[in-house]
This record gives sequence, structure tokens and C-alpha cells, in this order.
Amino acid sequence: MLLIQKTLTRPPQLRRPPSPATRARVSGIAAPQPNSLAPTGGEGWGEGASALEPLAVYIHWPFCRSKCPYCDFNSHVREGVDAARWTAALLTDLERQAALAPDRTVTSIFLGGGTPSLMPPETAAALIGRVKALWPGAPYLEVTLEANPNSAEAARFAGFADAGVNRLSLGIQSLDPQALRFLGRGHDRDEAIAAIGLAHNTFARYSFDLIYARPGQSLAGWEAELDEALSLAGDHLSLYQLTIEPGTAFGNRAARGEVLAAGEDDAAALFEATQVRLAAAGLPAYEISNHARPGAECRHNLAYWRYDDYLGIGPGAHGRVTRAGTKIATRQARAPEAWLAAIEERGTALDEQTPIARAEAIGEMLMMGLRLTEGVARHRLETLAETTIEDLFCDALPPLIDGGFLTLDRDRLAATQAGRQRLNAVLGALLA
Ligand code: SF4
Repeated sequence: MLLIQKTLTRPPQLRRPPSPATRARVSGIAAPQPNSLAPTGGEGWGEGASALEPLAVYIHWPFCRSKCPYCDFNSHVREGVDAARWTAALLTDLERQAALAPDRTVTSIFLGGGTPSLMPPETAAALIGRVKALWPGAPYLEVTLEANPNSAEAARFAGFADAGVNRLSLGIQSLDPQALRFLGRGHDRDEAIAAIGLAHNTFARYSFDLIYARPGQSLAGWEAELDEALSLAGDHLSLYQLTIEPGTAFGNRAARGEVLAAGEDDAAALFEATQVRLAAAGLPAYEISNHARPGAECRHNLAYWRYDDYLGIGPGAHGRVTRAGTKIATRQARAPEAWLAAIEERGTALDEQTPIARAEAIGEMLMMGLRLTEGVARHRLETLAETTIEDLFCDALPPLIDGGFLTLDRDRLAATQAGRQRLNAVLGALLA
């Protein structure tokens, strides 16, 4: 339901840090210095996970009614979906992967997609119930479901609430009719507003997404849209800048020369106005694109950004699980039909279970954690690196701090707002 910084709703597909060329394109950040991020081996680093450590569970429903032109998620349009087969397969995957992380405290479930609000509520109930049976005893389990306004029927929402969903994330994307048409959304403004009202009346917590930095979008227009969004919002909003991804319909049009997103300067001005507006309304940014009243942050997505462990269930879902002191990356078959066939034939569609080398894990922890306003906990990064942050980054750190892109104190390494706006460049400088 969103298009940039996708770590919000799906397990992140972590990539190598940006290249020096990326970094060099951003002014105001000093050239990187050699640092001590050389690989130190992929096994046995860090502390092992224990029963006290949290575990998040992501479950992917890969089907949508139509494909949005900006979307590069693993989402597919199919004539018919055999819900019983898919329910059984997802349960099989869940059971199998539970063995990777037994005796943990599950803190959140995220039913993402695709459009998981198209799944039968009975499927959600079965999945949530199985998670609770496999990992009993969570003091509070956050259960989020992604939904589109055009699947927001009262009966279905009530069914999902009865199934155990206690947080709804709605893909609204815009309150402007023209923008909704541009974005190829399958709902109109009235449906969007009705769905928000229904979410408010049905679920303990709800959030919705908007997309900005659309081509030609004015600052005044975006501020008016934000004000209306704030009047409809609960305690959480996700606000994403439009990015054009290769392989999407927008990507193909952009390759032919069409301008489909705001320019960098306009996007930066819109981003800055967003931060001011939302902070003044009591929903400051806790992550680059996510705003919440204190205490109302999405716990599931915090698990990604804090580099906690998570299981990825369903087609294409990624996971990170600590075993014997080493973080393991898991990856599943991506195509829905291939995934389903693998589960039904072999009981698993895991393509990959790869130990993550220490240097790569440091990069991942930074890529995730510096998105957060709170930044990265010093003790976690230093435990992983087996050295101090100062020694880890050597000469790369002072220019980033002096330039106003990073802060470092006895507890945390964090990106400033300016740093989060240029996070790829900051990471490039740190991890070069
Ligand atoms: S509704 Fe489906 S196609 Fe549209 S953005 Fe969401 S996942 Fe992508």
C-alpha cells in the first residue's frame, strides 16, 4: 500500500549500502574515510536470542484486485484464489518456520500484502490463533492488518476484529480525487473517508497511508490535505514520498520521459513541511515516513527498524532470525504459484537460510536503525561490532556529526532530520 521505504509493512529486502557514487551526489557530506568495517567472519558474533527476546511475525497475502502503477511489491492479480489451500499453506509455513525460533516472545503479527483484507476473516483467525498457540504467553500482541478502502465492508472489518486484529493500516494514499486517479487507486475519496470512519469505529488502533511528492503538487495543496488527514487520523499516520520504481507501470512511463514525481527540491520542501505540520499536531516523526503520538508507534515495524528478529511467512517474505549467536537471513520463493507448490510438495518454500556476516549485519542494523528518530542503541551496535562506535567508524564520523547529519551520545547514534533526509548518503559515508 505504500511505495517508498517499504520497511513499514513488509519485511525489508535489505540491500548492500549505497555506493560512493550515491554518496557523492549529495552535497554537504564529506568524502568517506577508510574505517574498520571489514568483514570479521559470519559466525558466532553477538548475543544469542533468548526466550526474553521479541519476535515479530509477518504474513504475506500476495493478491490485489488490481495492480497500482507505482507498486513494485510482490502483489498479483488473480481471477480466483483458493482460500482453503492458501490458508492451509500459510499455516504449514508458519508451523515449519516456528522451529527456527521456538521459545520466544511474539510481540506482533502483521498481515501484509498485497491486500490481506481480501483474505477471508476466517483465514486471519486461523493464522492469528496458530501464532498464539505456537508462542503462548505474549503480554500484549499487536495484530495489524493492511486494508484497502474498497475492501472495507463493515461485516468484513467486524470479522477481522473478531479474528483478533487490533490495528488496521489503511491504504488511503490521497484524499484528493484527481491524485487518486493519477495513482490508479481502486477507490474514491468518499470510500476513503468512509473506510477511515469504519476503522475508527471497529479497531482499537488504526493508521492510514498517504503518498506525496506527486508531480506538480503544491505546498499549499499538500498542507491542506495533511490538515484534513489529521482531522481524520487516530494516533498514527504513514506519509510516503512517491518514488518511481523500475519495472512498474510508472517506471516504464518515466523511462519514456514522462515526469511522474516531484523534483528533489520540491520533495524536500514537502518533506520538511510534513515534519513541522505533524509535530505541531502531536504526531512527530518516529521514522522517516511514520508519525505517531508517543506510545502509538507500530510495534511490528519497530522490530524491523530495531533489527530485532522476525519471521517472514508467505510468498517472497524475508526473515531475520538469530540462532546460536548469528543472525540468519531467510528468503522464500516469490511467485505465489511456485511458493504454493513448494509448500504443498515439500512443506517449505524457503529458498535460502544464510548466516549474515558481521560487517553485513552492522550495515543492516544501521540502515534500519538510522531511519528511526531514536537511532541505534549504542550497546547493541557495539555488542555486534565488538568495538566502540568511535573505533568502528574512525574518521567517517566527525564530519557527519559536525555537518549536522548525525548525533552520538553515551546511549545512541542517531540521524538528525537532515541526516534522515539524506540517509543513503549518510550510510554511504559511514559504510564505505
Ligand atoms: S493495493 Fe496492491 S498493487 Fe496497490 S500498492 Fe497495495 S500492494 Fe501494491
